[in-house]
Amino acid sequence: MTFAVFADHLKKIEEVSARLEITALLAKLFQELETEEIPSAVYLSLGRLVPQYQSLEFQLSTKMIIRALASYLAKNPEIYGEGGPAGNLFDETDNSWYEAQVTKLYKQTGDIGETAEQLLSKKKSAGNGTDLLTVYDKLTTIAQDNGEGSQERKVGGLVDLLANVNALSARFIVRIIDGKLRLGFSTMTVLDALSWTKHGDKSDSAALEELFQKKADLGLLAQTYLDPKLSLEEVAKKYQISLGIPVVPALAQRLNSAKEIIEKIDKAIVEPKYDGLRIQIHLGKDEQGNRFVRSFTRNLEETSHMFPELEQAWQELDCEDCILDGEVVGVDKKTGDILAFQETSTRRRKHGVAAKAEELPVKFYLFDILSKNGDTLLDTPLNERKEILAKTVKKDAETFLIAPFIVTTDAQELHDFHTEQLALGLEGAMIKKYDSVYKSGRKGWRWVKIKEEEGSTGKLSDTLDCIVMGYYRGRGKRASFGLGAFLVGLLGKDEKILTVAKIGTGITDEQFKELKQRLDAIETPAKPAQYQLDKNLNPDVWVKPALVVEIAADELTKSPIHSASKALRFPRLVRFRDDKNWEQATTVEEMAQITLG
Ligand code: ATP
Repeated sequence: MTFAVFADHLKKIEEVSARLEITALLAKLFQELETEEIPSAVYLSLGRLVPQYQSLEFQLSTKMIIRALASYLAKNPEIYGEGGPAGNLFDETDNSWYEAQVTKLYKQTGDIGETAEQLLSKKKSAGNGTDLLTVYDKLTTIAQDNGEGSQERKVGGLVDLLANVNALSARFIVRIIDGKLRLGFSTMTVLDALSWTKHGDKSDSAALEELFQKKADLGLLAQTYLDPKLSLEEVAKKYQISLGIPVVPALAQRLNSAKEIIEKIDKAIVEPKYDGLRIQIHLGKDEQGNRFVRSFTRNLEETSHMFPELEQAWQELDCEDCILDGEVVGVDKKTGDILAFQETSTRRRKHGVAAKAEELPVKFYLFDILSKNGDTLLDTPLNERKEILAKTVKKDAETFLIAPFIVTTDAQELHDFHTEQLALGLEGAMIKKYDSVYKSGRKGWRWVKIKEEEGSTGKLSDTLDCIVMGYYRGRGKRASFGLGAFLVGLLGKDEKILTVAKIGTGITDEQFKELKQRLDAIETPAKPAQYQLDKNLNPDVWVKPALVVEIAADELTKSPIHSASKALRFPRLVRFRDDKNWEQATTVEEMAQITLG
């Protein structure tokens, strides 16, 4: 497929907002792709170059993209023709006139993609013939370049690319580089579209979702599934859990009391609920036989470089290879006590890792094992997985510890264990069905946490993880921060985002400043298609659905204005949930579970 045709598909997808229409259009795109193009096309359509669990950023600011556009125009003065700069038409080194023009247009359109498209629209050589994989490879080269002089080389790479594509392609290419491709769909829609490609309906969607959960690489799954020679059974056989590619983690449901939980799951394995960072650890060997340890968050982001302690895994664990599930928590260097989440989360960093590791040691509390020595354990009952885990962690291990647990069918015993954990400063108990298989996500009753008792946090039993949708500039004291209040929403059906609160109080000055900085980075000129809200709530500045915040509130009240149909009373910002993306925010359905009584 040529990139020009690919860009045409993206344009059509961009023009619709109903999920079903997007699904059908994506399916049309998939039908036209060659097998080897499928992974790249999937990642690119999501604005990426690699699967979600890998990170490959372009590291090229909007300003540098403007510079590349200017440089391209300077090299091709016929595009501006007579309107071009007098006097320095042939001086390729002085692009300032062009830079000013590009900047002006960018200010008018507010969209770097549209800017590029408009500028290139007068291009003489159409540039329709370059194929998708050539553009993908060039983009990858631009992203991978780093070190001295890389900014200039990246700009040069983009200028070359612009010379070989048409105006519409340029629109999408620069949006991808700028991290601003928003086509309004995500993983689930791609899975639906895959099923649609083969059957014209969603009949394989559930099966595809299960496969994705075992090995979270959408491009690879798409390529395997779309192989016309393979039946669904054969795809399932081929697409197995893999070392180095994360399994989508299991999550917990909530229930009111120990009694309800026992009624629901009968025999339970009960563990402390640690307040740290979820971590999935993969120990394996690469193709050359070299050992590796990689770790991932619940959000599938790789965190290996943040935890140098992982290198000890080979000494403390007894296996050829394995995938482990657990929680990493910071410990006080002097007392060995477990520290609060806020402390642990300071380990999530790119720079100064070694010094931080020295200052804030961590322990890995392991509670599950998903594969060992080449065998998948996802369908092995939890009680047996626990035995295998016990044999995998060496007795003298100091950094990799097994989370303690009790086995019970007694609600009182469960309740007592929960209270004990709370008294120890942990988050209470995590209750798991004794013989359950490992299943990603929150569906079914395998993992359950207890809602807090009434009275302790007001009428809401838990905090909500909300998506920031935009902000209001505000007046008075807060106006100096450039942000007076912000709008948050929850996840509704079909990936829609519905508003639940406008928050302007319950935030410290520090949080205000940090929030503004974070929102600046994800600002977007137009309302994202997924947002559903009453126009009276329209914020001054929209942001992409990219920041999840944990919000505590006293209660939920009926609301005629918020599209989630409930509003949060006295909302307060608890923390930024960098470990979650918008797809993992609290859903409107879950909100109902969080209300006590
Ligand atoms: P919370 O906001 O309460 O952390 P969450 O929305 O992040 O919850 P839940 O599904 O409610 O996720 O709870 C599961 C999370 O609890 C896991 O992702 C993990 O980080 C943490 N956790 C702590 N201890 C355990 C444990 N023993 N078993 C499983 N998860 C645990």
